[in-house]
Parts: sequence; C-alpha cells; structure tokens
Amino acid sequence: MVGINSATQMTSWLAGGRDLFVVLHVLGLLCFTYIVTKRLVPLARGERDLRFDHPWLRLGRVGKYWLGQWKHPRYRTAGILHIFIFAGFLVLAIRAFSVLIVGVSQDFVMPGLAGRAGPIYDIVTDYAATIVFFCMVIAVVRRLIFKPARYAVPARYGKAHTADAIFLLSLIAILMVADSLFAAAKAAGQLQAGLSGEALAVFSLPWMLQKALVSTSLVTLGRLYFGAYLLHELAFYFLLCYRPFGIQFHVETSFFNIYFAKLDREILKPVRCGVPDEHLDQAKSFGVKTFEDFTWKHMLDFYSCADCGRCSDNCPADAVGRPLSPRFLTIKARDYAFQHYPMVGKPKNGTPLVGGEDSGGIYSEDEIWSCTTCGACEAECPLLVEYVDKIVDLRRGLVDDGNVPQSLQKPLKALKSRGNPYGKMEKKKADWANAEGFQQICPVKTVGKSNGADILYFVDSITSYDDRMQSIGRATAKILNHVGENFGILGAAERDSGHEVRRFGEETLFMALRDHNVEAIKTSGVARIVTADPHAYNALKHDYKDVPPVEHISQVIAREVKAGKITFNPVENINNVYTYHDPCYLGRHNGIYDDPRNVLDAIPGLERVEMTRSGDRSFCCGGGGLMLFYEPKEEQRMGVRRVQMAADAGANVIVTACPFCMVNIEDAIKGAGLEGKMTAIDLAELVDQQIARGPQSRVDRATETEEVVIASSSSGRPD
Ligand code: SF4
Ligand code: SF4
Repeated sequence: MVGINSATQMTSWLAGGRDLFVVLHVLGLLCFTYIVTKRLVPLARGERDLRFDHPWLRLGRVGKYWLGQWKHPRYRTAGILHIFIFAGFLVLAIRAFSVLIVGVSQDFVMPGLAGRAGPIYDIVTDYAATIVFFCMVIAVVRRLIFKPARYAVPARYGKAHTADAIFLLSLIAILMVADSLFAAAKAAGQLQAGLSGEALAVFSLPWMLQKALVSTSLVTLGRLYFGAYLLHELAFYFLLCYRPFGIQFHVETSFFNIYFAKLDREILKPVRCGVPDEHLDQAKSFGVKTFEDFTWKHMLDFYSCADCGRCSDNCPADAVGRPLSPRFLTIKARDYAFQHYPMVGKPKNGTPLVGGEDSGGIYSEDEIWSCTTCGACEAECPLLVEYVDKIVDLRRGLVDDGNVPQSLQKPLKALKSRGNPYGKMEKKKADWANAEGFQQICPVKTVGKSNGADILYFVDSITSYDDRMQSIGRATAKILNHVGENFGILGAAERDSGHEVRRFGEETLFMALRDHNVEAIKTSGVARIVTADPHAYNALKHDYKDVPPVEHISQVIAREVKAGKITFNPVENINNVYTYHDPCYLGRHNGIYDDPRNVLDAIPGLERVEMTRSGDRSFCCGGGGLMLFYEPKEEQRMGVRRVQMAADAGANVIVTACPFCMVNIEDAIKGAGLEGKMTAIDLAELVDQQIARGPQSRVDRATETEEVVIASSSSGRPD
C-alpha cells in the first residue's frame, strides 16, 4: 500500500494538501508543455529530413544505444556512473509517477504493483534512489575536484558550465533525498503508530533515514512526510521545466534522437533530403546558411547533446589547436536556438550562422574548414549526434555564397578543367603504369569498349599523379597481377573520384566528376572495382550509384591470403616493429579494421603493435583530398601527433592503406625529426615487397631490377 493512511496525523496533512497538489500538477504540466512546445518551434521550421523509415531497426538501435547505453563504457568512470544513473532513473520513473498521484489520490497503487510485486518494487526503488544519490555525489566531486579536462570550456567558447552542472546534479540529489525521506518518514510513522512498518531496503537511503528518525515524534514525522512530499513535487516539476533550458534536456530528447539517428552514417546527406539531383537546380540555395537551414533532426541533435565532451576529446582538429571543437559547434547552435526562439516573444530567425559576430554569426569560416570529416566525434558520441553532415552542409552554404578559401580555389578550378586537383593532363593519368619496364613485368591495360576486363582498378588522382604515390599504384597492380586477376584501368578517361570535392561542399562539381566516371565505368563493362585509395573506395561505394561492387585492395589481399593464393616471405629486418594506422575512410567510415591487420599478421616474423588510438578511435593523419591544399591554423600538424603516437607504441614502421595518409605521415616523420628512425609504407607496397613469388616468375625477376620509387623525392602535399 502506498501512503501512510493508517498514521492519521500524516494522512491529514496529505489530505489537506490535495488541492495544493492538484494545482501543482496542473501548473507543472502546463509549464512543461508550454516550454517543450516552444522548443519544437525551430524544428517545425527546419529543413526536411527523412527519418521515419525502418521503425524496427530504429527501435533496435534505441535498445542498444539508449536502453543498453552501448557507448557509455568507452569512458569507463563516467560511463559506469551514467549507466547507474540511467538505470536508477528508469526504475524511479514509475515510482515518481505513483508518488505524484498519491498527492491527489492517497490510495493510488500503480497497476501491477498491488500484490507481492509492490514490496519487491519498493525495495528496488529504495536501492535505485540510493545509487542515484551517491552517483550524484560522485559526479559533483568529479566535477569540482578531479575536473576531467574534457569538461573544461576554453575562453573562446565562453564560460565554464560547471555551476550549471553542479546545480542540476544537486537538484537530482535533492529529489532522491526527498523521495527517500518521504518513504522513511512513512515507515517510521507506521512503526510509531504500532503498525508493522513498511519494509525498507537494508542500507538504502530510506532505511538509513528511517533509522535516524526512529525516536522522532509522530507529529514531526507527519511534518517531515508532508515536507518531503512537497519538496519532491517542487523539485520534480522544477527539474522537468528547467531541463529544456540546458544540457539536461537530453533526458527528454535522447530517446528520440537515437530513434531518428542516421542509419547509414557512411552516406553523406544529400543537398536537400528527398530532392533528386536532377531537380537540385530548382533549390533556392545550397547548404546551411541560417539556423533554419538545418534539418529538424540536426536541431534535435543540438538539444540532445549532454555536453560530455567526448566528441571534442577525440577530435584531431581540436587536439592540434585548430579553431574547431565539435562539442561547441553543437552548444553554440543550441544557445543560438534558445536565444532566437525565446519563451516569450517572436522568433528572431534568419541571421547568417557563419561570419563575424557583427552579422550575428556563431561560427567562423576557419572553424568550418578545419574539419577533416574523420568521423571520430560521431564514433564517440553516446547520443549519436551527427557532425559530418552538418559541417558539409555549412560548407555547401559557404561555397554557394562564393566563400571558398583562397588555397582551395586553384585545385577546384583544376578539377573543373582537368578533372584532377593538380591541373595535370588527362593523358598523363596512366604514366605510373607506363614507367620504364613496368608494363613488361606487370601489364596494365586501359579498359574500354574493345578492351574488356573483369576488374577495374580505380586509381584516383593522387596515386596517378604523385611520384611517390605512384609506387602504391604499381604495387596494387602487381598484387592483382599476382593473384591472376584480369584487370585494367580507365587511364585518361578516369576523373578524380570527387570524394573530397563533395566533402568540401562543391556538390555541383562532384556531380559532374561522378557522372563522368560512372559513364566511363559503365562503358568499360567491368564486373568489379578495386581501389587502393579509401577516399575513392568511399566515393564509389557510397556517393556513386549504379556502379559495380567495389573493394579496397586490403580486402582483396586478405581474401587471397586466406585462400592461400598469397603467401609471404619472412620480414628481413626482425628488429622492425610495425604499427597499423587506420585510415578514417577505411576504418571508421567503412568498418574495415581487421583485413589489413590480418594481412600484416600473416607475414612471418612481422612484429605488430597497436597504438593507443586505433580502430574506431584512430587519430586522423590530417585529412586527404583537398585537405592537402588547405593550410589551417593549428599548433601542431595532426600527422606529427600521429607519428608520436606510433613512436610511443614502440613502432618504427607505420603501415597505412591510403595514399593521403602516406603523404601526411611521411611529411610528419620529417616534421617530428624522426627521419632515419621511423618509416612509413603502404600496405600494398609492403605486401608487394613480401609476397612469395615463384623463383622464376616474371614479376620476381623484374622486381630485382625495377626502379620502383619507394622513397621518392616528391611529396603529395602540394607546393
Ligand atoms: S569529423 Fe573529425 S575533425 Fe571533424 S569535427 Fe568530427 S572529429 Fe573533428
Ligand atoms: S555531441 Fe555527443 S559526444 Fe559531443 S558533447 Fe554532446 S553528447 Fe557528448
């Protein structure tokens, strides 16, 4: 039974308070409804986003990421604390509801809890309230004393959020104490009235409070009971109505944010959801320029951020001092929404988001161009907040207004005119394959209508034109040749995949490059595509439509190693220690983590170590594609930070599987002063070097004499 209706003094308090509680409930609920309705106004004005498909799949993700708190343990202490708090809240939700009703209907018992389940549930809630209370105490102590660095607010982003966090944590703690005191006073009152007291969970907060109240007079207990109830009501409604004004709003929105989270994170958001490419010319503008250009789901992201700092803690741009912190991209947008959509008065919408403060902007251009689209922030966020799409949308808005950084104008012009960012001639595209003597050891044909092949090796710009990266092209061709594939290249007919062009917001140019390549691929009649460039891989797999299936060369090698078609000679220098650097567009964006590692582990004598940040926590090398042409403001190069991580792991050879990573890492080895102590090699190059070929094979003989440019002079980083 809920309430202490047998202890008459106390019931009279409650009975007397019924009118008060009715008023409190009505006011509290009206207030909450009004506030949430106001918060939904910008969402109603936001851009369209199609997130209503696959309800079961979405519910499954809610089960995993919301109910199962899947990502929280990635930060052990904070994660475990959060899991306890969340579980406590879930348990206490029913209790809070029934306690609220008791104020107006004293004999109310939650359906299903009338029989034996009631006391069991009460015991569970006693412990839940206790756990939540102590978690709040620990959280306050962490915030005040241990101060994890990721909660800090750099001066350029405003004031620290500590006071707000402490205030909210304290409010929750007060709610738990009020709830426990309510139960304790009731149980103590029953005992004092000579009734068998309600069983409280041993060592729980209510149990401890009851022990403390054991000699308190019945009158005082009645007052405590009423006072605790009133405090509980006030704290409950205050919290309910205060949460939508800050980070605690995620308590209400997180369920929906996870339900509506993007299912295909690797596919970039289209310019306008639901508008096909051919109708894009009718769009009045591209990208996000004002707050209302964000989709409603992206606005929901802003409300759902818990300010935990995990995204920025993993953001390589933030780590090297670029003017970008994903956490503050969100918080600034949320503050903007709160200010421009006030609780009272008309919305003040329509101001540009990017630009100086004079124009009402909240983001700087540098901030928006500083992102490498590595996806580390998204991989980390427990609430599945999306960043890459938003940043690309903001870039689309800048590009649409002609605000392209100076350093990017030349490569973009070259891409328009020549189909590659270097402005090189199309006819030179296959020079890497026509290097002296190479065609004799590894024939590479140019596929076309009259020259068919099963596999297209899509080379992309950097491997085609950069002297150093051409070595990756030759190694890839030799591997395909070794396993007996009938492959060819598009040669002059291949244009840049457009992967980075798209991520830099130049959608129209991307579409032109894509359409050209799709036409050339279709004409070639190939059944499969292989590439050694994760950016090309990602573009062909996710940005292109109607092209044959695509694989990264690491997948092909791993399969052939497993099938026994590729075997390796032992490494010559057994003192070398290798580490694998996951390229963002192979790992995080496409989940290919194991194949490259399995290949390395199949090489006899190769010692491999993992860097602390590996797998889906890999640290971006600095970005590929047009990022090579952009000189951001930063304190340190990302690549240098990455090379130091490899050195810290005890490695002296960094293996990667991406030509852009190779450019950045080789530059960084020099930048870190580790020349001669550290080297970098592409997986394809290493495999080609270690492959066990028959003693008389053509390739084997030729490899001895071939001048493959491994440590070439020319870096892919443009002059
Ligand atoms: S995508 Fe990478 S660089 Fe961009 S904000 Fe996220 S973590 Fe930072
Ligand atoms: S976006 Fe996600 S990871 Fe970043 S602070 Fe917010 S909740 Fe935390």
